Amino acid sequence: MRNKSRRGMRCGELSLCGVSIAGEQTAVAVPELDVCFDIGLCPRVALSCGHICLTHGHMDHAAALAYYFSQRDFQGMQPGIALVPKQIAEPIEQMLATWDRIEGKASPRQIVPLSDGDEYEIRRNLLIQAFSVPHTAASLGYLIYSRREKLLDEYLGLSSPQIVELKNKGQKITRTTQAPLVCYLGDVQLEALKWTDMMRQAGILIIECTFFEDGHQHRARFGQHVHLDDLIELLPQLQNEYIVLTHLSRRTDMRQAKKLLTQKLSPDQRQRIHFFMS
Ligand SMILES: [Zn+2]
Ligand SMILES: [Zn+2]
Repeated sequence: MRNKSRRGMRCGELSLCGVSIAGEQTAVAVPELDVCFDIGLCPRVALSCGHICLTHGHMDHAAALAYYFSQRDFQGMQPGIALVPKQIAEPIEQMLATWDRIEGKASPRQIVPLSDGDEYEIRRNLLIQAFSVPHTAASLGYLIYSRREKLLDEYLGLSSPQIVELKNKGQKITRTTQAPLVCYLGDVQLEALKWTDMMRQAGILIIECTFFEDGHQHRARFGQHVHLDDLIELLPQLQNEYIVLTHLSRRTDMRQAKKLLTQKLSPDQRQRIHFFMS
């Protein structure tokens, strides 16, 4: 089960590390996958990830991107790679070029502009799929999944030489399977989001929950953010084993928030919800 340590919170095989406070800073790293979602600031654990998945350009999600590239160069690490919404790729390039001039050196980097449905291979058989997210700025969410070739059932009893023989004959002996590992939404207006089965089934769903209090629903709607009530309505459709809440407001009273969860959810549902607060 989950525990929190200096390495962050454990969710099954993976850990989540970093920080997330609404309007201030968000950077959620998954070190095992070499990925950090958003880079509103750059703690050590974010720096050590080779890939940044930037959801949108709001400052609390994007402010430390230039620092990330520069610092990786300074520390002799491989150049970082940032996946970004296509609409903001150009201003990001310009911003980084300006930083190169300010610093008096060019930081090596790779910016990968993505649109809804685009995929990027992090490493062999580990892929990221981008999807459109409704928010007040051009936004993408990211789904990370692993891809495996599995032997077709009818060949399961065969020996290795027999399998090789079939392969050499050009026979199709495997099928491709996909396992969704992590889905990260970023800031989102939930009721307008288009869900896929992979998103609902990802082992870990990282979802913002900026507003908890009764009476704050209209504020959530105005900023295109999630209110606890939106999440509760959605829960029956979600099959994710871990649902991790980020982007809480600094105003949120944690004791009160936990109490609300216990009041409004069944014990089964409550058990799946975790606060990201490493
Ligand atoms: Zn935000
Ligand atoms: Zn935002």
